Amino acid sequence: MIPIKLHWERRVDGFEKDPDRPDELRARSERTDPMIREITDLEDPLVLRLMNCRTDGDFIKFVNRFGSPLRFDDTVLSLSLIRGMADGLRTQALATIGKHLSPHERAHFINEAISNVSLRPAYVYSEETGRGRLILEADTLHTFMMMEHLAAHEAGAVATSCEHCDKLFLTGPLTGRRSHAKFCSDRCRVAAMRARNAAKEADHVSA
Ligand SMILES: [Zn+2]
Repeated sequence: MIPIKLHWERRVDGFEKDPDRPDELRARSERTDPMIREITDLEDPLVLRLMNCRTDGDFIKFVNRFGSPLRFDDTVLSLSLIRGMADGLRTQALATIGKHLSPHERAHFINEAISNVSLRPAYVYSEETGRGRLILEADTLHTFMMMEHLAAHEAGAVATSCEHCDKLFLTGPLTGRRSHAKFCSDRCRVAAMRARNAAKEADHVSA
């Protein structure tokens, strides 16, 4: 796959809820910080982070850390728009879980998802390697996330939900996780083990 890059900006002082308009987030200041991302692996893709946002607080944390999905210079964001984006992605991920889609069906799903994606080719010279390389620049954070989604499909990674915290995570190639992983992280694996042991202990005491 040709490297996919994103040059984006995020609000240094973040967003906050507008007390008069519950659906709106307002930037606390005009100050922005540049950020560059590249899809290198699928261990912690932003698209999964967005899918796993549930509360308004989760969405605020997401945009504060990674920027606004569609325009980096947005000063006002619609919570319902971002929520709709996350719901759409999650529904799509869940629709493919546990289903044995034919390669044609899978391709159809993916093409629906990336129908609005726009990428710009660029040829960049690297001092480090002394060579130029072709990259594709995503025009928005949303595009970048859709390309992560595509990269996951291409690699054969599969979305699964964590048996402990219910968050979606990817398993298989490029994800750093075995394809039968049941937990999103070591933290959840350990927490689930503790909970099992505590339950056993309680049984033991009550017996
Ligand atoms: Zn988990």
